[in-house]
Amino acid sequence: MPVIELKLKNQSYPITVCKNANKKLIACLKRETKKNKLFLFYDANFYALHGKKLSREINHHINCHELVIPSGENIKSEKELSKIYKYLLSEKISRSDFIVAIGGGVTSDLIGYAAASTLRGIRWGVVSTTLLGMVDAAIGGKTGINHTSGKNLIGAFWQPSFVHSDINYLHTLSVREMNSGLGELVKYGGLIGKDMLTLLDKYLNQNNIYNENLLLKLISKSAEYKAKIVMTDERESGKRMFLNFGHTIGHAIENSLGYGKLRHGEAVLLGLYAALQLSNRDKILLKGNLLKYKEIIGQCISHIPYYPIDKQKLFNALNLDKKRIDSRQKFILLEKVSKPMISDDISKQMIEEAVDSMLYFYKHGVDNG
Ligand code: NAD
Repeated sequence: MPVIELKLKNQSYPITVCKNANKKLIACLKRETKKNKLFLFYDANFYALHGKKLSREINHHINCHELVIPSGENIKSEKELSKIYKYLLSEKISRSDFIVAIGGGVTSDLIGYAAASTLRGIRWGVVSTTLLGMVDAAIGGKTGINHTSGKNLIGAFWQPSFVHSDINYLHTLSVREMNSGLGELVKYGGLIGKDMLTLLDKYLNQNNIYNENLLLKLISKSAEYKAKIVMTDERESGKRMFLNFGHTIGHAIENSLGYGKLRHGEAVLLGLYAALQLSNRDKILLKGNLLKYKEIIGQCISHIPYYPIDKQKLFNALNLDKKRIDSRQKFILLEKVSKPMISDDISKQMIEEAVDSMLYFYKHGVDNG
């Protein structure tokens, strides 16, 4: 059972990638809670499938306060957050209590931010139940909600005390959600390089998206990479920005379509395609591994349902991406596979061309030349 230790200056925590490991989870909850109160927040869809059993097992050992919260990107909102505050405060939560988010990236972003902001910070942990959560969202302490002005614009860095990723739960995830998780895995393919691409290629070219053996390897490799990056740059002032590869345009797509249409990882795949076009602006880079990489991205995009994207709305949304620290938009590009770079000298025309190519590929399934 791989346990990755994320070590920071003032805190360190385990990311456990496992299978059928509720006993281990309960032991961890006991350690974190001691005699204090334990608050569990379940994603509603997860709860309907697994929640009662998990709740019974945990309550057998620890008395908990539990709340099931609705599913979906739209709950990363001020309205839902204020309901969580109301609940926690009415239950008289104190600074020494412990909060757990049980669900995918939406649940951990929202509940993590509630933990960060209630009583100026309550310790918390994540039981991650989606592929996207396990490889990315649950790790690294970025928490937050969306705003009408853009995605994840309100939030805080607030590290969890543990991340528990049990792949047993992935079996009930829909094919579409698995593909969305694949979006972040493919991002790591570009950042990590050859080993990860070989693994991804193997995964994509066998016919079982729930293949536990391959998933364990893919999740562990991604989690390990993310942990390493967060250890060197917790607050995203340097290398952590690499993890936004594909996200600048990906977030703008989500925003321009309205949250909830395309899944996050699906939008990231389209963003990766556009970022690769930008990386290739001198037309000399798409050789060797980058060509293989582009093929993998293309293969995954072919599974995304089609929604017409309004280019003007996408451009409006791009101007509001929070990675922009001055008037220039920042992009994460690849010099080559496993060699990301931060670029702020991309002209509007280049972005337009990359977006046109991406939109063409998304619609027709082939390059526009
Ligand atoms: P999600 O949390 O909405 O989960 C996807 C769907 O799966 C939901 O309908 C959920 O109800 C359902 N579900 C959850 N577990 C299940 C299970 N085991 N079986 C069946 N259904 C299950 O979405 P996500 O893809 O996990 O996360 C996306 C979110 O993560 C986005 O809001 C994105 O912005 C955020 N994110 C955050 C970070 C970060 O560093 N904080 C990084 C990447 C993404």
